[in-house]
Amino acid sequence: MLATRMGYKIIPSSMNTSPDSWYQARSASVPKYTAFKGKGVFDVAVIGGGLAGITAALEIARRGKSVALFETECVGSGASGRNGGFVSAGFAESIEKIAARIGAGDARALMGLSQEGVDYIRGAIKTFSMTEIDPVSGWLNAQRFDDRSSMIERAERSGEKFGRPLEYMDIDKVRSLLKSERYFQGLYDADAFHLDPLQYTQQLAGAASAAGVSIFENSDVVESRESANGFELVTSGGTARCGKIIVAGSAYLKRIFPEIRRGVLPVATHVVVTEPFFDAPDHAINFSGAVSDTRRAGNYYRLLPDKGDGVRLLWGGRITTGTRPPQNLASQMQRDIARTFPQLGQVEIEHAWSGLMGYATHKMPLIGEIKPGIWACTAFGGHGLNATAMGGLVVARAICEDDDRVNLFDHYRAEWGGGIFSQVITQSIYWFMQARDGLDELRPRRDIAEA
Ligand SMILES: Cc1cc2nc3c(=O)[nH]c(=O)nc-3n(C[C@H](O)[C@H](O)[C@H](O)COP(=O)(O)OP(=O)(O)OC[C@H]3O[C@@H](n4cnc5c(N)ncnc54)[C@H](O)[C@@H]3O)c2cc1C
Repeated sequence: MLATRMGYKIIPSSMNTSPDSWYQARSASVPKYTAFKGKGVFDVAVIGGGLAGITAALEIARRGKSVALFETECVGSGASGRNGGFVSAGFAESIEKIAARIGAGDARALMGLSQEGVDYIRGAIKTFSMTEIDPVSGWLNAQRFDDRSSMIERAERSGEKFGRPLEYMDIDKVRSLLKSERYFQGLYDADAFHLDPLQYTQQLAGAASAAGVSIFENSDVVESRESANGFELVTSGGTARCGKIIVAGSAYLKRIFPEIRRGVLPVATHVVVTEPFFDAPDHAINFSGAVSDTRRAGNYYRLLPDKGDGVRLLWGGRITTGTRPPQNLASQMQRDIARTFPQLGQVEIEHAWSGLMGYATHKMPLIGEIKPGIWACTAFGGHGLNATAMGGLVVARAICEDDDRVNLFDHYRAEWGGGIFSQVITQSIYWFMQARDGLDELRPRRDIAEA
């Protein structure tokens, strides 16, 4: 831990070692799972203790097979336990671009599956009587330039063509909720919600364990070999035999399964949480749901309930390609907050952390059997809460019930992600997106001036 004059207390040493996030700080002691030692035989082995791996393992165990889940560190130590907590239908890729690539019919079917992911999370919270998840409804996506007609068009297209209803909000409505001149029109998703992702991940792992999944933490899978009746997985502590493997290691996967790994670009993104506001910040944010903006490289934020001492602001955004968070992360985020809500003054940042998202070049998940017996369930990018639930479910149904809905993902296979140039490519794309966002915001003002 590192205390600075800004009150920025936490600098994680890497992207998945003790992030000491706000989620972790408020989390009570959690069950620990032992490391795998010796030998074992399972129908299915899952690599990765994030939400993709846990959901797949749970759903396969519920369908009667023996399952082992191997995790390098601990459950939720990757992106799943440190993200923004926004749950909504859709994918990292926009539905318009999906439809342009695969046609409106299959795009609508994929959107339906992604909605199933949202419903799955809602259902799991109830079924497993989860506590401390703090779900809060609603997501407002606000535009940072004035373009009424395109927002109305997007709302109509989303509902009519893709079955995802969004409510159009005009400038006055948006600014009554978010008191910032940066914002113009918005789209409101009443079905979306936000939650504590670490609690959800840990409690879903608890449900998987209760359903019979053998969860092994501190168990890095370092090698996979074919054997007579399937595969042998070599971990730091032993060797497990299994009939099928599900690879759900996302951006944290190293060394093994190059055919999957080379298609997944690691992209770091960052989150901060402020100190509590003792006066609720109604003069800036009068909205309890999730908020994002329509920029390609935008910010997202939400108010956090804080037991007894006011409300905090969780603020996320920025993308970097290094494996460590930027040293001045807290001050960069402070500036982003001040640019949007100058009336908040200089907010003190108490927690700051980073995580890695796994992106395929097409921004869609890699889901399906890539070789006989080896399944991918990974690359959910920055839209993984609903999508990992959906991915785990789709793979479990395909393995246990021969359900062919998994074939919808044949449109999106692993593509070369740039190899050793991937970091440079990703950083350049981010800067390019920022430049286009800046132009988008300038253009309407220029149009008005020219008129
Ligand atoms: C800061 C941040 C904010 C985000 N905000 C949101 C949001 O608000 N809403 C949203 O929908 N999505 C969000 N996302 C994206 C979302 O968190 C991810 O898409 C999702 O959690 C990915 O889950 P996963 O299970 O695929 O991967 P992860 O959660 O990253 O899990 C992969 C796990 O695999 C393990 N592993 C890797 N290799 C091995 C191996 N060889 N042996 C054993 N274990 C291994 C790793 O240790 C890791 O724990 C955000 C991501 C980040 C980083």
